[in-house]
Amino acid sequence: MWWQDPVTKLKGIGPKKAADFANLNIVTIGDLLNRYPRAYVDQSKVKTIAELTTGGEKQLFLAEVYRVTDKISARRMRYTLVTVKDSTGFAELYMFAHQRFQTRNYKPGVQLLIDGKVQPGRGAKMVTDAYVQILKDGEEAAAPGILPVYALSGALTQQNVRTAVKTALAMAEDYLPESLPQEVITAKKLPPRLEALKNIHFPASFAELNRARSRFVFEELFLLQCGLLYYRSRVQTSRSGIKLAPDGDVIKRVLAAMPFKLTEAQQQAWHDISFDMQDKKPMHRLLQGDVGSGKTAVSALALAKAAENGYQGCIMVPTEILAQQHYETLQQFLQPAGISIGLLTSSVKGTKRREVLQALAEGSLQVIVGTHALIQDDVEFDKLALVVTDEQHRFGVEQRAKLANKSAFEPDVLVMTATPIPRTLALTVYGDLDVSVMKGRPPGRKAIKTLCYTGDKRREVYAGMVRQIKAGHQAYIVCAVIEQGEMPGVRAAEDVYNELSKTFLNGISCALLHGKMKPAEKESVMEAFAAGEIKALISTTVIEVGVNVPNATLMIIENADRFGLAQLHQLRGRVGRGEAQSFCVLLTDSDAPETLARLNVLHTSDDGFYLAEQDLKLRGAGQLFGLRQHGLPDLYIADILQDTDVLVEARALAKQALANKKLTGEIEEALNAQFDERFKRIFNS
Ligand code: ADP
Ligand code: MG
Repeated sequence: MWWQDPVTKLKGIGPKKAADFANLNIVTIGDLLNRYPRAYVDQSKVKTIAELTTGGEKQLFLAEVYRVTDKISARRMRYTLVTVKDSTGFAELYMFAHQRFQTRNYKPGVQLLIDGKVQPGRGAKMVTDAYVQILKDGEEAAAPGILPVYALSGALTQQNVRTAVKTALAMAEDYLPESLPQEVITAKKLPPRLEALKNIHFPASFAELNRARSRFVFEELFLLQCGLLYYRSRVQTSRSGIKLAPDGDVIKRVLAAMPFKLTEAQQQAWHDISFDMQDKKPMHRLLQGDVGSGKTAVSALALAKAAENGYQGCIMVPTEILAQQHYETLQQFLQPAGISIGLLTSSVKGTKRREVLQALAEGSLQVIVGTHALIQDDVEFDKLALVVTDEQHRFGVEQRAKLANKSAFEPDVLVMTATPIPRTLALTVYGDLDVSVMKGRPPGRKAIKTLCYTGDKRREVYAGMVRQIKAGHQAYIVCAVIEQGEMPGVRAAEDVYNELSKTFLNGISCALLHGKMKPAEKESVMEAFAAGEIKALISTTVIEVGVNVPNATLMIIENADRFGLAQLHQLRGRVGRGEAQSFCVLLTDSDAPETLARLNVLHTSDDGFYLAEQDLKLRGAGQLFGLRQHGLPDLYIADILQDTDVLVEARALAKQALANKKLTGEIEEALNAQFDERFKRIFNS
């Protein structure tokens, strides 16, 4: 198909321009057409001088040359002042440098079509940055229309991209199959594909642009939903769900083994979950609970319930350290009730691994904690009834499904998260699910004091850290990067470690921890820190997720402005886990008022849900909830958070379409007609 050809097939595009396009991820002609304009300039109307507004916007107008004078500015720059007029008034064009050459042909009476920025000026309106075209005798002043503005790279100009897109559109004119089922187009009253494609790049009017835009937004969301539903329909085949009995003795014993009483929020969440598990219909629940709200204890009960009924449960977490820690916590809760529990991560190897795999396959191991290692092909379960994922948006759709597919039944699924996920994103990424929310924290904890300082206070902050350590506590220092040079001006963990171990932390045991270290190394550092042997841990955000060291009372975050609020909150949640007063110190080298105001939100709020909302407002959805992290395709025009209504509609129509044989066939054709394979990939995965 023509759209699969490289852009070099287009007239005027050689290897150099192709390389610039490649930087924009545009390789084929289809990619070029898929990349919609980021803005439009309205050159659809030729104005009179009187109609020009003077706020500095670019505008198009027709006038005749009145007078041309060479001038020298106050800063000794030569420029040419071209006075033009029409029947409504005068304007003055300021032409500098190379622009001055063209003024040689501006004889009085010559007709000009001018596109320039208009400001008030002295006397007449002042026009700068003008693009001027001389109109020949009798030539009509045709307005170019609404022009697209594209993302650029290298030496590419708007004109280059516009011409390339025009050439590509001419190819589309010859042959362009529909990319949505006809029935859907009719039902939604969408414009046909060719018409929409032309109007999204070179709109005939703003109304047409809107129609085109809504078609493509719908198309993306519809195909995304079709892909996800299709995917799920295959995953869930004809397996039946499992119905578990009401809570018995084992659950009682697990509750008794916990060194605390469940909070009300935990009880409510557990009530929802155990109720779901007692239903034959498979549970599909999202447990949202702020950092430190006690989700682990709730998951322990769910895992125990699977075990109590003679089944197996597994919990998958994103990091090795977290797996280790959950393993220890769960042992403490579950072993007194006689439940066997194992650990599987990539550092469990050889004989040990074989033993774990065998025990899982035989069913003698009732609960397993692990990382991605759990989804490997040779991991088999005997009777898996419950799949828990404890995550920070780190597992893809596929990974979760792979785990659930390891059961002969359709297992209950519990997804735990500390960051609230917008409803539409949850719907897309997890499918239909019920939500339990745990607000607040277990009692008896002191609020964490959060302080924000600029870099000149760094030495005092470090001195404070030494005092905390001398008083028997432990501290974290978190850096945004591992090595120097990853981000200019940002303090690297390695440097901070080297510096502090020679100065403030001289004679105090401290260690470095980051994601590039081997799992075994990370683990031994973390173990030593948890055991209190290491007093200060200088690390990156690898410690962000879930680790629990109650004796740590100080969290220092370097270059705090580099982190999102929700992430800072997550990091802060690593302290304040014991009896003593804890502190979180945000250090920043920025004194920009916006930065300080943003960081100050952490000082005033301790509500993860509120902070995530603020983050959304400040940083936009794209940054926080990339679909790609979930293994889903990028969207070029639709926005999961903004286009909520369309998403819900697209999902409903996708459901109907997939239930209809003929329509399913048309969807397959639609996928083949797409300019790229991003949606096809979900269908085939
Ligand atoms: P998160 O929801 O962030 O995963 P955790 O499960 O790690 O939170 O729990 C945080 C801390 O709170 C742990 O030290 C845990 O032992 C403690 N905790 C959990 N539930 C309670 C409770 N009901 N009462 C007192 N402490 C609790
Ligand atoms: Mg947790």
